[in-house]
Amino acid sequence: MKTWKILSPKSMAVEERPESVQTATQAKVKVTNALLTPFDLRVYRGTIKPGYPIVPCRFAVGVVSEAGEGCLSVEKNTRVYMRDLIPCGECNHCIADRSEQCRRMLAAGTDCEGFLRDFAVAEESNLCPLPPSVSDTDALFVGIVSLCEEVIDRLDVPKGTHVAVFGAGEVGNILCQLLIYHQAVPILIDTDEERLAVAASCGIYYTFKADETLAENISRITGGHMAACSVYIGYGSLPVDAPYEVTSIGGTVVYTGFGFATAKAALKTALDRRLTLTTITNDYSNYAAAINLLVNKAVNLAPLKIETFPVAQAEELFAERAEELAGGKNVRCCVLNLM
Ligand SMILES: [Zn+2]
Repeated sequence: MKTWKILSPKSMAVEERPESVQTATQAKVKVTNALLTPFDLRVYRGTIKPGYPIVPCRFAVGVVSEAGEGCLSVEKNTRVYMRDLIPCGECNHCIADRSEQCRRMLAAGTDCEGFLRDFAVAEESNLCPLPPSVSDTDALFVGIVSLCEEVIDRLDVPKGTHVAVFGAGEVGNILCQLLIYHQAVPILIDTDEERLAVAASCGIYYTFKADETLAENISRITGGHMAACSVYIGYGSLPVDAPYEVTSIGGTVVYTGFGFATAKAALKTALDRRLTLTTITNDYSNYAAAINLLVNKAVNLAPLKIETFPVAQAEELFAERAEELAGGKNVRCCVLNLM
């Protein structure tokens, strides 16, 4: 059974190895589709350094091919989303059966093996059955939807609240769509006009290219109050302190995404404005709620034009796209088909 591995930065190989169910509560899953994200490309390039060798791809869907006799929620042929955050199983919360409070969630593709492989064996509790109305491509975004919901829960904004979002890639785009679903008013900011145009076609009405008129524009939209809170998506093209001047006094800035680049922030504005700075990344995720949001079409992924490639092209795609990303190009997520 084929497994793709990153051996060291920019070096990838395919190996054959067996995968078999070891306990009654495990299931073996035929991975059908995996998402190739900029996050995976950073692991490939070594910008994010996992313990190599590592199987990449954090997000995947598949079909159960064999279920242990103790499995209750999945059986042979159940279509599933594979949890991208796996409780460590070792901390005091995990041992006390409160794995949702795990202190050290392991992210697939960096902290533990990702899903670019023909088959994966997983504990049943790490598999989320998918309703037929959610397509495989949409289901690949369950982890991102879930992360965005965590951010919105933390913001806890009343209806009509303006939220400035820095970064119009897939995470920022989906976050804005969910903010609209929750009746908040997102203002999406990026340096890339193409991403902003995609966001506009997803129904996000306030999109701004970051420039010297940004604070003035946000002041105008908010009647001078500025954004009640801001969200900055990790590895963005804007400075990490860009949210401070557009966030209102006493507001909150949440840093989120799948990892952060090393960066320096000028804190004076944040301190003068008494902002609360916080982070949400790799927190416990409510996957069931995320799947439900996709069933309810709270997010429209069609304008993102997610392309699909056969997995045979994986090595080539990693190499090409990692170069494009390093060259500052807007690299979108794509699907690798393992069927
Ligand atoms: Zn734990």
